[in-house]
Amino acid sequence: MKFSLIADTLGYMENTTKRLELTQHLVDLFKITPSDIISKVIYLLQGKLRPDHEGVEIGIAEKIAIKALSKSSGISVKKIEDEYRDTGDFGQVASKILEQKTQTTFLSQNITVERVYDTLYKIAELKGARSQDMKMKYISSLLNDATPIEGGFIAKIITSNLRLGIADYTILDALAVAYTGSKENRPALEHAYNVCSDLGKVAKSVAENGLESLKDFQVTIFSPIRPMLAERVKSPQEAREKMGTEFVSEYKLDGERVQIHRQEEKIVLYSRSLENITNYYPDIVENIGKVLKPDEVILEAEVVAMNDDTGEFLPFQELMHRRRKYKIAQAVQEYPITVNFFDVLSMDKKSCLDLPYVQRRKLLEKNVIEDSFAKIMPMVFVKTDSEVEDSLENAINAGCEGIMLKQLNSPYRAGARASNWLKLKREYRNELGDSIDLVIVGAFYGRGRRTGRYGALLLSAYDDKSDTFPSICKVGTGFTDDSLDQFYQILSDKITIRKDPRIESGLEADVWFEPEVVIEIVASEITLSPIHKVAMDKIRKGSGLALRFPKFTGKIRFEKTSENATNIDEIVTLYNSQKRVVQDEK
Ligand code: AMP
Repeated sequence: MKFSLIADTLGYMENTTKRLELTQHLVDLFKITPSDIISKVIYLLQGKLRPDHEGVEIGIAEKIAIKALSKSSGISVKKIEDEYRDTGDFGQVASKILEQKTQTTFLSQNITVERVYDTLYKIAELKGARSQDMKMKYISSLLNDATPIEGGFIAKIITSNLRLGIADYTILDALAVAYTGSKENRPALEHAYNVCSDLGKVAKSVAENGLESLKDFQVTIFSPIRPMLAERVKSPQEAREKMGTEFVSEYKLDGERVQIHRQEEKIVLYSRSLENITNYYPDIVENIGKVLKPDEVILEAEVVAMNDDTGEFLPFQELMHRRRKYKIAQAVQEYPITVNFFDVLSMDKKSCLDLPYVQRRKLLEKNVIEDSFAKIMPMVFVKTDSEVEDSLENAINAGCEGIMLKQLNSPYRAGARASNWLKLKREYRNELGDSIDLVIVGAFYGRGRRTGRYGALLLSAYDDKSDTFPSICKVGTGFTDDSLDQFYQILSDKITIRKDPRIESGLEADVWFEPEVVIEIVASEITLSPIHKVAMDKIRKGSGLALRFPKFTGKIRFEKTSENATNIDEIVTLYNSQKRVVQDEK
């Protein structure tokens, strides 16, 4: 299959933000894609080679990409660098440079999807001292044969800049239309995706064997399951109204969610965003086998840092010390943890997803042997508002951030934010009601004591419909001197020459960042704003939504990707519920 077919589709898609049109372009592409390479096409469209949890990174430094471009075009590195500085978009630069080249040389041959994919895969596998040279050779040979448009997209993919906002659900819609004739069949595809977290695999199955084949998708060991999420509630009353007569209240611990896959000696850990995080927790790998009875099992747990002397739970930030490449053994000693199991997703090769909560809980209690390292999440049955209130009080006193309320008969709804699970936190009772997770997109230099660091950060929510990051506030409070230093360091890697096109704001920051770092914010109120772009025109024409008196809580949500940040619908819900409270009070 010619790579130009993908490049053309990406080109059309760059020119529209309308979801229907985006989907139609994909449908057209899928219809002409041979089914044996559909998975490669899906990964390339998302700028990947394999699903994220397999950790296959294309990983090319910009410097190498520039050298490769210079080699295949005959244009100097310096000229390319200057061009890059001016436009800030490596894809555009590559197209432009290759344009100049095609005026003087003869195009050699069509490049195929297979060749692009296989070359990039070889590059991803290259390691060791001479690998940089080899990578450069592979890329320059690809660029040599590429048209300017193709070269532009290859350049974007290799430098991880392919951001067209092709969200998973748009691809699922397009696959449903292309291969089953109707969007109505999307739930079947979504189900398959939720249990395997691999869009390429789902696509291949439906393309080759049709809708029926999706029924065969089963929970499989070492293939992470997309996590079930909770809805937030503001009060015990609201929780009880949603939950019905009898439900349970579990501790909501403030740590990192980990999906633990065990098959005899082999243990693999996945984060909430399904990255493989096994390396950060060698102590789990070493100790968890002893406490789990089944030889093959998939469980979910909240990993929490704790004070070894007092046994107290420590705040989530302490876990950040584990996020390092070197000296992990030392971090394990200095920052001990406990593993608190709260669900079982599969046992002895049988999926538990469709079992009701109570049965999964029983299985958990039967199959985990508690010790000082591994615990089962404390849980009580509750019925009335005051019982919910009591359990919240107990949980807070035990050092939790709140409680999780779960319906007794609910299955595990992979990949869904459903009202079978509700979260109730302490802060819900005042002001905004809940903390929100926002992405750092820009910063303003500090003055006075903060000279030489950032004085305030520009934050955005995530718009999952358009894959953009509209700004919602500028925050300058809640920072300690230490946290300011830390931000300066973390963010120095994320600076971009130009504002990422997905960021939308009426404010001009001094520095712009790749939208990657997520932090937790509390605020007193959500108000209408002409400057900030969240939910623009949704509530009132010409206005977006902004936070009033935002404050950093001290938590960097390093386990969340920017796509997991609070989304527009959640902000609009918070805005509307606050309006209701104000009206109720009148
Ligand atoms: P949030 O990140 O505020 O949306 O809250 C959901 C998170 O709470 C989950 O992703 C888990 O990491 C965490 N959590 C803590 N305790 C529990 C529990 N008992 N059940 C489910 N999730 C829990």
